[in-house]
Amino acid sequence: MQAKSYLTALDTVQKMYIDGQWVESSNGETRSVINPANGEVIGIVTEGGREDAQAAIRAARRAFDKDGWQESKARDRAALLYKIADLLEARIEEFASLDTLNNGKPLRESRYDVTDSVNQFRYYAGLCTKPHGVTYDVPDQIQAMVVREPIGVVGQIIPWNYPLVMATQKIAPAIAAGCTVVIKPAEQTPLSLIRLFEIIDEAGFPPGVVNLVLGAGETVGAELAESPLVDKVAFTGGTDTGIKIMKAAADTIKKVGLELGGKSPNIVFADADFETAVDYALFAIFANQGEVCSAGSRLLLEESLFDRFVPELVKRANHIKVGPGTDEESEMGPLITEEHMNRVLSYIEEGKKEGAALLCGGYRLTEEGMDQGFFVAPTIFSGTTPEMKIVQEEIFGPVLVIQTFKTEEEAIALANGTRYGLAGAVFTTDVAKAHRVIRKLRAGITWINTYHPTFNEAPWGGYKQSGIGRELGTFGFEEYLEIKQINVNLNVEPS
Ligand code: NAD
Repeated sequence: MQAKSYLTALDTVQKMYIDGQWVESSNGETRSVINPANGEVIGIVTEGGREDAQAAIRAARRAFDKDGWQESKARDRAALLYKIADLLEARIEEFASLDTLNNGKPLRESRYDVTDSVNQFRYYAGLCTKPHGVTYDVPDQIQAMVVREPIGVVGQIIPWNYPLVMATQKIAPAIAAGCTVVIKPAEQTPLSLIRLFEIIDEAGFPPGVVNLVLGAGETVGAELAESPLVDKVAFTGGTDTGIKIMKAAADTIKKVGLELGGKSPNIVFADADFETAVDYALFAIFANQGEVCSAGSRLLLEESLFDRFVPELVKRANHIKVGPGTDEESEMGPLITEEHMNRVLSYIEEGKKEGAALLCGGYRLTEEGMDQGFFVAPTIFSGTTPEMKIVQEEIFGPVLVIQTFKTEEEAIALANGTRYGLAGAVFTTDVAKAHRVIRKLRAGITWINTYHPTFNEAPWGGYKQSGIGRELGTFGFEEYLEIKQINVNLNVEPS
């Protein structure tokens, strides 16, 4: 079946889902959704505003406080999550196609993402019925214990680089914990999340428990961060937006979860397995067009390896097949929008101006079949210095900068030398060195002799300005739970 056959007809305005109903925005506005591979309009969606966000928040508040979701049983929530997983699993090709058409990424990557989403629902379905209380041995005749309770109403704000999986890794633990949810996708990529809400509707949640509001960050997103009726805001996106959200959330002291940007170091020592290190250096930066928060966008290379490693890296980068994500042969798709492509290209110009050496790529691809899309060739710079903008700032595209080092200490200093601390990797066959270096990296997600594998079971999140809190695994579940201390006086006798 052709990917495009999964799209909704353009004469239908796609709605959002508030309080168990499919609705259009109260202001009647709409937004066109674009395929970044050819600039075509592939959907028309309703464009919500603050009032719609407020309506969704009120519904979520009522569902939590008054309609009984707060007291819902873990077993019942698990059943709903398992049902979503089954329904989604039956439609993997459809959801993968929507993410590819809307985001641009190759189909093989989208299929992987949807499978990941299915697994997230199953993981949290299983987890929520497991024991999670604690008792304490305290002085006096007191039984002290801790129970965990849902935080309440959660606002969730999603970026465009993984439209489905970023949303499901927030929805699944929140529902598992017993929270109610108002979620907002990125303006650019609402299509798969709208379709997921068909499944959520079919699964049979009480009205108001899970709500979808479409619209801009400055309106709908800001309302979720500011509203006194929201107990927690969970955000994935850029660090500068994260700063705004934290400020907006401050007035109501709501809990804040932030998964932000990165400029992650991939450190390759001269004693690394050569083939493995070259393969992963490419995968680290060019997977998902480099639009990955944890991308290995800085290659830190031991100097003695440079002359052997870099020509091989450049040769293989030049062979990456760039093309529309719907083409099964494509290994790298277009960037998300024309605006973002221009931003990436301007970083490349800046790198040249700053005096870095452009080894390959550095331009927009405009061959036939790609001329209307937002494709940028895989790009590699060497000859960089740590202060350069292309070394310090997150470009969020297929641009790799190489830094060289002579000693372990120098590698660590360079690796930690940005405001970010999301991820990092070390390639070496010296096990002790690998562990020494990893322990010194100020980053939340690290790899040894591999790059990028991510597991729903393990925590995801950053140090420094890459974020606050963790998603995924048991840590990601805890983020949606409050901790209540209960002390029982054992000396009271029945009267
Ligand atoms: P973005 O920050 O521009 O937007 C993310 C979301 O925030 C969108 O839904 C947007 O509408 C909303 N938003 C924008 N302004 C807002 C405001 N003032 N108040 C509330 N919401 C607002 O990010 P993006 O361009 O969509 O995504 C790219 C960024 O996301 C990169 O920096 C990337 O590193 C980061 N990211 C991080 C992770 C992670 O897990 N750490 C994962 C994916 C992406």
